[in-house]
Parts: sequence; structure tokens; C-alpha cells
Amino acid sequence: MAELKITNLCKTYEGTVDAVKDFNLEAKDGEFIVIVGPSGCGKSTTLRMIAGLEQPSAGSILLDGTSIDHLPPQKRDMAMIFQNYALYENMTAFENMAFPLKVRGVKKAEIASKVTAVAETLKISELLNRRPGALSGGEKQRVAMGRAIVRQPKLFLMDEPLSNLDAKMRLALREEIRQLQRRTGVTTIYVTHDQGEAMALADRVVVMDQGRIRQIGTPRELYSNPGDPFVASFFGNLPMNLWEDGDMICGVRPEDISLSKSFVQDWEKATLLTGYFNGMQWIGEVRCKEGRFTVCADWEMKQEQTIYMHCPEDKIHRWQQK
Ligand code: ADP
Repeated sequence: MAELKITNLCKTYEGTVDAVKDFNLEAKDGEFIVIVGPSGCGKSTTLRMIAGLEQPSAGSILLDGTSIDHLPPQKRDMAMIFQNYALYENMTAFENMAFPLKVRGVKKAEIASKVTAVAETLKISELLNRRPGALSGGEKQRVAMGRAIVRQPKLFLMDEPLSNLDAKMRLALREEIRQLQRRTGVTTIYVTHDQGEAMALADRVVVMDQGRIRQIGTPRELYSNPGDPFVASFFGNLPMNLWEDGDMICGVRPEDISLSKSFVQDWEKATLLTGYFNGMQWIGEVRCKEGRFTVCADWEMKQEQTIYMHCPEDKIHRWQQK
């Protein structure tokens, strides 16, 4: 059970620009927070400062109202899961999972029962005698997750835990992480560059760009009310269509544009430059009066086909140009 409060956290590496600048966040007890943004925006640095692996240049971190700024990583009562699993290669899966309990002096019998129970939930009971070298990527990450949850830490910190896995395994483990977090209720900070992963996992998403927070909100809020064009184009399976109108930047999502194959009064006529099927729907590119737009429909789209399109006024996002 833990609340995390981060105030004005900053990190400047020697001789570089600000890696993290004025990061502020309050994570509620049991909340699943995902920090998302392009590569190099400061996600890992933020997570590593929370873990105590990186010294902040400024700012403070409170866990349940108490400052942890002076505490070394092992005293912070957090469990971290990394992209590269970080398992001990010379230990079996069982020994890897038992390790955090062993160093805390938990009795052998209790360790055995805890590890066995966790292994069962993660469906790795048969693998407990194997060393990491004899495990697949997905199995290794399950063991790493097991090691994180055998003791109930105050915080789970996860740094791109699914990035090294193939697409199918990524989806399966993503679902398991979600369920595990719900079941254990451990406050979680999860880092990814993948907007789909952020949407699927988070209670709230923190969007970062160039060391700064752009917006914090639920997946729904970020999708429906993006605060700026960067956030708007970051979320969504298809890129948002953006154009300039005087001193405003406007945007509309492909899925919000109405399309017709036959003439509709007052709709804009356009010609498809390309059209392809993405496995779920047809995606097209058109040239219209605002520029080149991506559109989608559940009917076949072909190059040079004429279509009629319409952007409902309430689906158009508008931001003041900076
Ligand atoms: P992300 O996790 O979003 O990809 P990082 O937090 O790893 O981003 O990096 C943020 C910025 O800080 C980047 O510009 C990166 O090059 C820089 N950086 C990260 N670690 C170091 C370091 N140890 N020394 C110097 N610069 C670093």
C-alpha cells in the first residue's frame, strides 16, 4: 500500500541538456501509472531516480508521506522489472525468485511456499529448476515478475518489460501484468515507448517529450482531449490528420471522418492516392483541401477511387499555435 508523490524532479547529466525537467506526479495507492514518450524523452531516467539508481539534480520523492531521497535502492521497498530481465544466470528460476526473501532472512519453509504459490499463478511451476539460459524470453520475464511479487513491495517499477518479446508474447504478458497488478494492488510505475501498451495498461498515462511532462490523464482523456498536437499525434492507431488554419493548429482522427463512395450534398470530393487493408479495416490516403489525410472505412479502398468525405465540427481539435 503506497502513495508516491514526486515534486519538481530534475536530472541534468554532465555536459548535456536536461534529461528530466520539473517532473511532478502524485500516484494514488494501487494506481497503475504508465510513463510514455519517444526514445530519449527521459522515461528511464525518471524511473531510475524513483528507484534510487540515479541521483536527482533537484526535487523530492515521498513514499507514503515520507521522504526517500536519502535512501539507497535496497532500502526503498520497491521491486524493479527490466527489459533485459536482469536474472542471476548462475541461479535456478526458484533461487532467483527466492532471492529477495532470502536476503531479508525469511525462513526456508516460508520461502518455498511463497515461491511455489507465485510460480503457480505465473504458470512457471515446471520451470523452477531451470537456469535462465534454458528459458525463453517470455519465461525469463515471468520469472523476473515472480521475483518482484514474492514479497509485496510498496511499488512496482517496470522499465519496458515487454520490449524484447515477440508480438504474441507481448500481448499475453501484458494482460498478465495487468491482472497481477490488479490482484496485488501494488502501486505501479511502468515505462514504455508504445502508446498501445500505455493505453491498455494504465489507469493514468504521463506523456513525456524532451524531458518534460506534456500531459497526464486517463487513456480516454488523452485520446479525446489531447492538450497539444504532440499528444494528439502520439495516441491512436492511425496518425491524426493535422493542418494549420490561421494561428490555430487543427486535427481530426481518421476514424472521426465520415466517408461515402457515392455523392453526398456538401461533402468534400476527394481522390484516393492509395488504399490498403490492415487486417481490420481499409486505410486510404487522400488529397483534400487541407492537405494529405489518412482515412479509414470498412469497405474496399482503391487507388484513384473517388470518395466523399466530411469532418463533423465537434470532432475537430484546435490548438493555438505557439
Ligand atoms: P528514455 O528512457 O525516454 O529513452 P532516457 O531517460 O534514457 O530516455 O534518456 C533521457 C536523456 O538523457 C537522453 O538524451 C539520454 O541521451 C540522456 N542520458 C541518459 N542516461 C545518460 C547518462 N548516463 N549520461 C549522459 N546522458 C544520459
